[in-house]
Amino acid sequence: MEIKMVDLKSQYLKIKNEIDEGIQKVIDTTSFIKGPAVQEFQLGLEKYLNVRHVIPCGNGTDALQIAMMALDLKPGDEVITASFTYVATAEVIALLGLKPVLVDVDRDSFLIRPDEIEAAITPKTRAIVPIHLFGQCADMEAILEIAKKHNLYVIEDTAQAMGAEFTFSDGTVKKAGCMGDIGCTSFFPSKNLGCYGDGGAMYTDDEILAKKLRMIANHGQSIQYHHDIIGVNSRLDAIQAAILNAKLPYLDTYNGSRQKAALFYDKAFSSCKKVKTPIRVSNSTHVFHQYTLQLAEDVDRNKLRQYLTEKGIPSMVYYPVPLHRQKAYMDEFNKDEKFPISNYLSGCVLSLPMHTELSENQLNYIAETILSFFE
Ligand SMILES: *Cc1c(COP(=O)(O)O)cnc(C)c1O
Repeated sequence: MEIKMVDLKSQYLKIKNEIDEGIQKVIDTTSFIKGPAVQEFQLGLEKYLNVRHVIPCGNGTDALQIAMMALDLKPGDEVITASFTYVATAEVIALLGLKPVLVDVDRDSFLIRPDEIEAAITPKTRAIVPIHLFGQCADMEAILEIAKKHNLYVIEDTAQAMGAEFTFSDGTVKKAGCMGDIGCTSFFPSKNLGCYGDGGAMYTDDEILAKKLRMIANHGQSIQYHHDIIGVNSRLDAIQAAILNAKLPYLDTYNGSRQKAALFYDKAFSSCKKVKTPIRVSNSTHVFHQYTLQLAEDVDRNKLRQYLTEKGIPSMVYYPVPLHRQKAYMDEFNKDEKFPISNYLSGCVLSLPMHTELSENQLNYIAETILSFFE
């Protein structure tokens, strides 16, 4: 029994024909750049998300960068995002000469905290980038209210929450990435909707923004060889689009499998005092990009990981160093004492194998092995 953090091979084998046919069709028609596969994916994702515009691009980091470029932010403008996350968000903010203002997250949900966002707002703040970390939505109702009050843009980083749904207090339900001004996602192979290389997309309901995002992703042109604004070259590869076209119809099933695996873990650890299982926030579904435990203070994480490795069980620490402690992002704005929760979490989180192909046998073995470590 081989256990993987993410098992893309078994998932592929189940829909091999559809994927292979899609790839072959791109090769047969030699529509390698743009072309019908990309167009089909764009329309398919628009329909799935119930959003007006999907703009495919090269990867999730590009999506964030292009989104930021489209909002005409000026050097020195402040953009608020979380410290406990993947680096991409803060990276593109800094790359564009903007100021990443990091805020702490919630200890139970790992998500950015609206009260911390509000406390970090200054006259220079222009945008908020909430991250729907590990697969459930940040409190978008509160965040959108703050944004409205202070006239700020909201760019959602939804790379880990493809398919998650947020319910507003009036009953409105929206898909992750479709609530702020722009949603940004990634189709990196291990993401909930992953291709077999790099890929990404932006979403928006705003016609003008959509046009601008499309132009920026295409060298700042809407008419070939007429460059009205400074852009980049960021395209979703046609072969990757063909793979995504084959996988999109299964996305909800895939997320369902992840949720089932998560429930299994929840139950298995329900009476174990050494681990805290991930909580579900009340206003969002959880699509479990990661299943992340918090280990009790007296648990030696390295020893546990070592033990698991010896038993053939991989595990990962997302994320071992919060952004405010990264050399590249340390500064007087982001002082260490402002981030007790991010610091705490980086010391005690442990993500377990989570993918669409985990069998009961495997889940059982993983859970039993972890529990046996504490005996
Ligand atoms: C994966 C990821 C990204 C970046 O996506 P790439 O396609 O790898 O560039 C950005 N933000 C978060 C939260 C991610 O998990």
